[in-house]
Amino acid sequence: MQSCEGCGLVVDGGTDGCQSLFDELRGGQLVATTYQLQRLTVDTYCMQHPDRYCVSAKSLAAHLTGLCWTLEYSGHASGLKALQRWLDGRPRLEKPELPSFRGALTVADVGGAPDPAERAAAIGRWARSTWDAYSALHPLARRWVEEAL
Ligand SMILES: [Zn+2]
Repeated sequence: MQSCEGCGLVVDGGTDGCQSLFDELRGGQLVATTYQLQRLTVDTYCMQHPDRYCVSAKSLAAHLTGLCWTLEYSGHASGLKALQRWLDGRPRLEKPELPSFRGALTVADVGGAPDPAERAAAIGRWARSTWDAYSALHPLARRWVEEAL
């Protein structure tokens, strides 16, 4: 057992083992859910694993604003599309310093929920805990969202 370098989950295979849990979740149980829930899952996982998924300022902005939009605004799909258009327009972005602690919950707290409603609730808790770990970046995330809309 090793710790994942992104989220700290202790799992067989460490970082790769954590990635496998995410791939399973995304490829299996999440296929039949809404676009918003899939995006929330992907944005949360990526914010917990920025060394792999948030290398550029643009990718960081995509996932951070996705979380912000879903958790602090309406979360409507039209907003996610507006954010995508904003990013495609190549806004000038600077990548901020990222926190090393990225929340107490991990993808492992979601995978076990068998019932779709329970799973959605577990994803919501995981997303919220990750978002809270990024509290230093909330003002920046809100500024980006306002700029995009
Ligand atoms: Zn991880």
